Amino acid sequence: MSFKDLGLSDPILRALKKLDHSTPSEIQQKAIPLILEGNSIMASAQTGSGKTAGFVLPILEQLKDIQAPKSKNVNVLILAPTRELASQIQDNVMKYGTFMSKSSAAVFGGAKIFPQKNKLKSGVDILVATPGRLLDLVGQKAVFLDQVKILVLDEADRMLDMGFLQDIKKIINKLPSDKQSLMFSATFSAEIKNLAKDLSSELVEVMTSSSNETVESITQKVYAVDKETKPALLGHLINEYGWNQVLVFSRTKHGTEKIANKLKSYNIEAITIHGDKSQGARTRALKDFKSLKAQVLVATDVAARGIDIANLPFVVNFDLPAYPNDYVHRIGRTGRAGKEGIAVSFMCAEERGYLREINHLTKLALEPEIVEGFKPTFDPNKPKESNKPNKSKSKRFKKKTFETKKERSKSPRKPQKSFQTKNERTKSPRKPQKAK
Ligand code: AMP
Repeated sequence: MSFKDLGLSDPILRALKKLDHSTPSEIQQKAIPLILEGNSIMASAQTGSGKTAGFVLPILEQLKDIQAPKSKNVNVLILAPTRELASQIQDNVMKYGTFMSKSSAAVFGGAKIFPQKNKLKSGVDILVATPGRLLDLVGQKAVFLDQVKILVLDEADRMLDMGFLQDIKKIINKLPSDKQSLMFSATFSAEIKNLAKDLSSELVEVMTSSSNETVESITQKVYAVDKETKPALLGHLINEYGWNQVLVFSRTKHGTEKIANKLKSYNIEAITIHGDKSQGARTRALKDFKSLKAQVLVATDVAARGIDIANLPFVVNFDLPAYPNDYVHRIGRTGRAGKEGIAVSFMCAEERGYLREINHLTKLALEPEIVEGFKPTFDPNKPKESNKPNKSKSKRFKKKTFETKKERSKSPRKPQKSFQTKNERTKSPRKPQKAK
């Protein structure tokens, strides 16, 4: 199936060609025709599955027949949980709409409100916004929402996790009732389903491969390690295997800084991104990481949500996330758009329960392994309360191979050669950068 078969027209097809998007992904194949027919949808899509184009392309197509908005008005409203995701979506709108003359803007907190108000003065076709800032702008009468024709809630589950439910409800109340609603969420809780009912009584469900599953192309490893030894293990893996671009997740803002400082002491260039940083600093950090100026980006969940880094090879969960959904989102930063990726998680004694929850949610059977020289003082397979070593099981935790799933299905276990993705194995590894 081609994008043309989906009913998209020339200016969009040209943009897709320019971007080298030749075949629509599963979510795009399913969602685009439904959206073009005017349906409201509730779609599950794995992270990295191309869901942004799944809604941006049919929106642009529909906008061809919609008049430019009046002053301070908006034709399409896209709500997203974070500043990074909002500006990323707007980048996509501009890329896919490059051969069309539709206006767009992104508004989010943490940036000056005045320039955002200015952008809205003449009205915009597509407005991408975080809920809080949008309500500020509505309150200041800088934007009116009563002409919105299409509403998108992107990463709806995350917006609820971040406490945006009331803000979203307030926004929905300001929109016309006959709008088209498109809701995207990686996971579907009862709360999300209730929100969907508020949006429309006729939402068409679009289900792709199970929303709680992790992407097949990601090789996942869990290493049991003592809490205090985690920084040394991270430094060891990065330096020993020449990992050139690593996104590291930490549960806390303070943790990101501690990890980055420790890595610097191992001559690894690391930068941080978290909610306490100014928007300018966050944008700069992301730019430096994307351009490989910084080898490691240490991030909290909030800051890293939805971030799309083309071909990111390595994700490390320095802390196992307390919510298993976050595990799916975090590791989904790698292995995007069919590329291979490696996701490594560190599990200390206190985090053993989190692994069980992750395995339960993802229906995986990830088993903790031990890296030579980093043997933990606890038994990785025993629950937290009982910490006695379990001799019968400990034999299992020998260093294992690091093949991708595809490779495993082709051949029996091979000895581990390196920590690189398949593509990288053909190239020589980049040497870790020295701290300046
Ligand atoms: P998303 O899940 O929307 O964040 O998209 C993940 C990545 O896939 C982005 O870098 C997109 O540019 C890319 N992408 C989306 N659709 C396609 C496609 N049909 N073919 C190739 N790449 C795509």
